[in-house]
Amino acid sequence: MARLVCISNRVADPRKTEAGGLAVALSGALQANGGMWFGWSGKILPEDGATPAETPVHQQQAGNVTLATLDLSQWDHDAYYLGYSNAVLWPVFHYRLDLADFDAGYIGGYRRVNQLFAAKLMPLLKEDDIVWVHDYHLIPLASELRALGCRNKIGFFLHIPLPPPQIFTAIPAHDWLARALFAYDLVGFQSEADLEHFNRYASTEARAEDRDGDGRRWRAFGRTLRTAAFPIGIDVEEFDALTHAHDATEMYRRMREEYSRRQLLVGVDRLDYSKGLPQRLRAFRELLRRHPDNIRRATLIQIAAPSREDVDAYGDILRELESLAGSMNGDFGELDWVPVRYMHRTMARKRLPGLYRAARVALVTPLRDGMNLVAKEFVAAQDPEDPGVLVLSRFAGAVEQMREGAVLVNPYDSTATADAIQFALQLPLAERRRRHQNLMATIRRFDVHWWCQAFLEELSTADAEPT
Ligand code: ADP
Repeated sequence: MARLVCISNRVADPRKTEAGGLAVALSGALQANGGMWFGWSGKILPEDGATPAETPVHQQQAGNVTLATLDLSQWDHDAYYLGYSNAVLWPVFHYRLDLADFDAGYIGGYRRVNQLFAAKLMPLLKEDDIVWVHDYHLIPLASELRALGCRNKIGFFLHIPLPPPQIFTAIPAHDWLARALFAYDLVGFQSEADLEHFNRYASTEARAEDRDGDGRRWRAFGRTLRTAAFPIGIDVEEFDALTHAHDATEMYRRMREEYSRRQLLVGVDRLDYSKGLPQRLRAFRELLRRHPDNIRRATLIQIAAPSREDVDAYGDILRELESLAGSMNGDFGELDWVPVRYMHRTMARKRLPGLYRAARVALVTPLRDGMNLVAKEFVAAQDPEDPGVLVLSRFAGAVEQMREGAVLVNPYDSTATADAIQFALQLPLAERRRRHQNLMATIRRFDVHWWCQAFLEELSTADAEPT
């Protein structure tokens, strides 16, 4: 089989574990196929030394995976990563035009870093390598590689949502971004909804030709592009092993002991405005008001991993959460009970399944999410004999696969969400088992190996194109 070359903003050593859906998913894919993982090292070069272009790519072997990384200048990092990627694309793709900062200086840095990636990657590529580019930081990478003469098959997977044209077209350079997507042979999305948004843009804005009339093959800008939805999954076996290993078992035991006569609810997220954390706490406050049988009985453990703290909007959400959790505990707490245990930290991955398993209900209530892997991990960690219930936002990509077993909510509606949480807390055992079985069947079938194989199979059969 041809070598797989994955490119993403950050490269994670597959032997280590860290938070972030992308890192977890890619480690599995590369280890299985062998290959190279190329991206930013996380290092910033000193201002008075060599430029990023003059600095060699650092290569390191991790099992059968070569990790190849480059360094960035402070200037490039600020415009490309903090600026265009996380203050323009992230908010707009999550439907938050109000949080976008369309500073005209950012796009130059975004383009420059994508050009740097292309220039540094090109000499490392072999003729028949399959190239797989990941996520919104690197949308123009294929077009920059093509400009350097790259003829490899190149696929792109967008891990975050794609908004409808009405929102996407608010980006000043939306036509440039869309055109850049046509340099790929295959573009994959998390959900059918995202795919439909792309298709609408392709036909109405890009005036692309729908080759087969089914929205799967588009012709524009002299190229043919395939599009499809590939909902990302988790490594169910790996997660099962983690769940039954020592650290998670110990965590589970401790939590069960501590909450033996109480109902435990959990939320596990990166601290991000897309995750709907203040709305979630408000819904939990509504639960205590509307269903006071939960007072002294239900506790919500909310773990929020620090994330992108250099971007302004993230500081605001941090303060809002701290103050909400504090006021809820002040209003409702008792000497021997607090309603909310809020922690601003990353939890060790080895212990996480133990927390999931001890919980009766998980609150996965993003305002918008590409997929949401926590929803899948929670289900996978449950005891099938006595499983917990997933409360899931209708705005998570995962909803397309999980609507049969999860309790669906609109996170903007705190009253209805409170009632849905109460419903979830009171579901009888037989119903909990039925829902869990349903969800497990889907999670097993569409796991991370399926995701990877389905994408790569589709890419390998894409038409060879003159560049
Ligand atoms: P995102 O990629 O936006 O962070 P996902 O839900 O798709 O959201 O993936 C999050 C991944 O990071 C999951 O594997 C989850 O277990 C992990 N994670 C999220 N928050 C935490 C946390 N507070 N502590 C430890 N791991 C976390």
